[in-house]
Amino acid sequence: MAKKQKTRRQTDRLAKVKQIARRRSLSWATPRLLQLGVELRQARALEPTLHAVTKVSVGLTRSLQGTLRLLDESGKRLLTSARTGPSVHRRGTPAFAWGEGFLGWVVVHRKPTFTNHPATDPRFVSRPGQIWTPGALMAVPLLANQACIGVLSVSRKLHSTYGKLDLDLLRLVAQLSEPYLEIARLKRLNESDSLTLLHNRRHLDERLPLEIQRAQRFGKPLALAMIDIDHFKQVNDTHGHEIGDESLTEFANRLSTVSRSSDVIVRWGGEEFVAIFPETNVRQGKRIAERMRRSVCDRPFATSAGKIYLTASIGLVSLTNKDDTQSLTRRVDQALYAAKRQGRNRVVSLGSRQSKK
Ligand code: GH3
Ligand code: MG
Ligand code: MG
Repeated sequence: MAKKQKTRRQTDRLAKVKQIARRRSLSWATPRLLQLGVELRQARALEPTLHAVTKVSVGLTRSLQGTLRLLDESGKRLLTSARTGPSVHRRGTPAFAWGEGFLGWVVVHRKPTFTNHPATDPRFVSRPGQIWTPGALMAVPLLANQACIGVLSVSRKLHSTYGKLDLDLLRLVAQLSEPYLEIARLKRLNESDSLTLLHNRRHLDERLPLEIQRAQRFGKPLALAMIDIDHFKQVNDTHGHEIGDESLTEFANRLSTVSRSSDVIVRWGGEEFVAIFPETNVRQGKRIAERMRRSVCDRPFATSAGKIYLTASIGLVSLTNKDDTQSLTRRVDQALYAAKRQGRNRVVSLGSRQSKK
């Protein structure tokens, strides 16, 4: 009898603890979810929207870091990503590979899931350059119109575990965000180049005047680079158009890898690219342009026809108070032309005075 009473007391206490935990998690979750709703409604650029989602996901699930990856039309290539918290990898978020690793599994199976033992989970793939192995990892697919448009993931350090409540919270964040993310993703796809997934000219036409206006209004510097692959016609002539396309994609990846997240890289057309460097003066702009140039000529491009060696010429200018979109574009074109004339595989910057006609 006494034993029975004791068991009931224990059960009652357990129920009470569970109730308190539930109430606590609700009061913990509600303001964060409401805040997310507010941030999602504000029409903004894509990356800040993604960042609002990762920030809330990390807070709600008490994680160390969170990443949101959005995929392209095929659902197989990474369109863009955002992260809150420290990177797991030395060189930023690694390229997403469809079906590969834990996240690839989530995208293919479209199943929210977590692992509290990534090191022994067969779905988890440790990559070179990884700084730390998460102690626990959780990911949910992002869905729109029956398609998987991305994946939202969070992770914690060692000796920490996720449970069903954490998974439900992350699913809730995903469900709240999906319609907003899909609209922003479609807009981005419309402004992306389908070969390289960089921004296209439509995006530049909208973005450059805005960046110029902002820089001039707030008295901030701005640099603009025009990048052109040297003798690219020879690649097509020697190896064919497909290999040309492969090298263009790799070229775009290299430009993105060495640029900062605030830089706007655009495929201007053909083998020509434009980069906007906001809040950047000539000296800093030259440094980034040099980094881009070196990333191209430093090592060969691996294509299905073997190694190909490429170089690029870069023209660089900085914004003056008198500039508008047209004059800035004209000057950067002149700077690029000067780089070509001076022997290619170099960065040439033109001061505003030099370039006046
Ligand atoms: P330069 O050093 O003077 O820039 O020489 P170049 O050969 O790079 O310049 P040119 O303008 O003569 O040729 C550019 C070539 O880029 C022509 C075209 O075959 C190639 N190209 C442009 N767009 C694409 C593309 O989308 N795919 C492929 N494969 N090739 C492209
Ligand atoms: Mg060229
Ligand atoms: Mg060209």
